[in-house]
Amino acid sequence: MQFIEALKLRSKLFFLFLLITIGLFALGFIGVTYVNAMKKNMDSLYFGSLIPITELNEIMQTYNYKLANTIYKASRDSVSLSEAATEIESSLNNINKKWKSYMSHFKREYELNYLEYADLEIERTNDYFYNVLHMVKSSKDLQRISINTLEKKVESIHNVLEKLINYEVNMANYERKKFLYTYDAIMMKLGISLGVIILGVLVMLFYVFDSIQKDQTRLEVATKKLTVANKKLENASYTDSLTNLHNRRYFNLIFDREVKRAKRNKTYITFMMLDIDYFKQYNDTYGHVAGDVALKSVAKVLKETLKRPGDYVFRLGGEEFGVLLCGTDETNSANIAREICDAVRAKKIKHEASKVNQFLTISIGVVCCIADDALEEDILITRADEMLYEAKESGRDRYIITSNASKEKIA
Ligand code: GH3
Ligand code: MG
Ligand code: MG
Repeated sequence: MQFIEALKLRSKLFFLFLLITIGLFALGFIGVTYVNAMKKNMDSLYFGSLIPITELNEIMQTYNYKLANTIYKASRDSVSLSEAATEIESSLNNINKKWKSYMSHFKREYELNYLEYADLEIERTNDYFYNVLHMVKSSKDLQRISINTLEKKVESIHNVLEKLINYEVNMANYERKKFLYTYDAIMMKLGISLGVIILGVLVMLFYVFDSIQKDQTRLEVATKKLTVANKKLENASYTDSLTNLHNRRYFNLIFDREVKRAKRNKTYITFMMLDIDYFKQYNDTYGHVAGDVALKSVAKVLKETLKRPGDYVFRLGGEEFGVLLCGTDETNSANIAREICDAVRAKKIKHEASKVNQFLTISIGVVCCIADDALEEDILITRADEMLYEAKESGRDRYIITSNASKEKIA
């Protein structure tokens, strides 16, 4: 089912909708067709056999019990002539009507001959009764009517009708059997047709669903890859490519957030500004490439010294670094600053042009305070910068710390 695979999701859903619609229409159409066939069968059973039998029976009853009886009673003066005339007339009308109706039903080729004979017999018999009616109406002596002839006439038409009734009953039985057989055949065809359609639709549905599911899986995999790629991209955009430390962008994002958090929790916040001593001379002496290597070494020291989850190290630009500590008091902040100075020095990176040490050194300005509502983010940077300046001024390779983060300038 490659053509399904090739469709887009929207087209697949439309195809699904189309498939279900066609399936339902086909089911409906086949259902209606078979119900119609069944109706036709039931119709021919009912009108082809059952109604004719009833009509023939009624005709026979009318001859036997209405006509013969009335005439017999009239001949014995048991009923009045006018009553007898009315009864005979209505009975004959009834017989004519019923016979006409019977003859109008569907007839098979091979029964036509006998029907012609029966029709003639009915006509003759009715003629006889019309004669009697005429005698009754004209008040003739009914004693002249031969009961024997009457009985013969009734018996003769009785035989004709009985034969027809037997024939119709046999036909009804035959039709019923045929109907049951047709019914079974119809039900089987219906079952097979519905089964084929349902199976076909189900198979197609399976392929479409399977294809949609594959699309979904592919989409999920692609989304996962995209999420990972986005994360990498985001990390890259917040990382300094030379040192792998957080960059200035990340500093801008984190600094405000962490200061606000410290203000909310009223906890210690420490900010350090770090600057390599006489780095311009270092570059001049050993070249820019060596300068980059030195920057990486300092970054490594910082990473190794600051490992707690609340510690952040940034390369703020050039050979300047920033350190943000959350929840570290003044004593510990001072210890960490000292540790950094010692660790950079201990790296023993040769710096012949330095005026403070034969190895590369670093100066740090530190501000550490408990964050309160009055604390402004900018003041931490300003104070750290001031302390760094002081550290440089007072000889470099050292840190200077203050806990004064108020707006007033330090004396
Ligand atoms: P000070 O002790 O007063 O800090 O003296 P300094 O020479 O270090 O002065 P400053 O901090 O102004 O020096 C900045 C120098 O850092 C300038 C430049 O040569 C060097 N620098 C800045 N960024 C980079 C970098 O990405 N790679 C290298 N190799 N050097 C850099
Ligand atoms: Mg500098
Ligand atoms: Mg410097």
